[in-house]
Amino acid sequence: MFNKILLPIDLSETKLAAEALKIAIDECRKNNAELHVLMVVPGFRLSPVGTYLPEGTMKKMHEQVSADLHKFIEKNIPKDIKSFSDLISGEPAEEIIEAAEKLGVGLVVIPSHSRTIGQILLGSTANKVVAHAHCPVMVVKTKTKKD
Ligand code: ADP
Repeated sequence: MFNKILLPIDLSETKLAAEALKIAIDECRKNNAELHVLMVVPGFRLSPVGTYLPEGTMKKMHEQVSADLHKFIEKNIPKDIKSFSDLISGEPAEEIIEAAEKLGVGLVVIPSHSRTIGQILLGSTANKVVAHAHCPVMVVKTKTKKD
């Protein structure tokens, strides 16, 4: 049913993603789908903050995160799953929604913190993705402390 599945991942919180990762792998196997693992890094380049960063800082950060993302995939995604790493800069929820559309994924599997109703009303990445994505979104809630 799904040819492509998108798993957005915050590499600073990989414990949160453990359950979602298992589910995404399972869904890939069931659907013979490919898995796109997406990490979004801050997009300072065109903002005022960017002008204060030393030359080459953004490039170095991209290279480091890209290497970390490859390591994460290598370590956590079995070889029978066709996987791709996607690294984009910008605001996480916006980029996840846009990537889902551009890649034409059939499903987004997003790990999320368990929260109280009050906190949910404040909004979060998962909430924004559920609200605005043009495809089904599976939210995998996990009770975990930050990595
Ligand atoms: P928060 O309110 O901290 O965003 P949520 O529980 O709504 O928490 O969503 C967390 C999830 O959002 C992460 O597990 C990840 O899937 C996604 N996410 C957050 N930041 C990023 C990022 N920089 N790159 C990719 N995905 C991200």
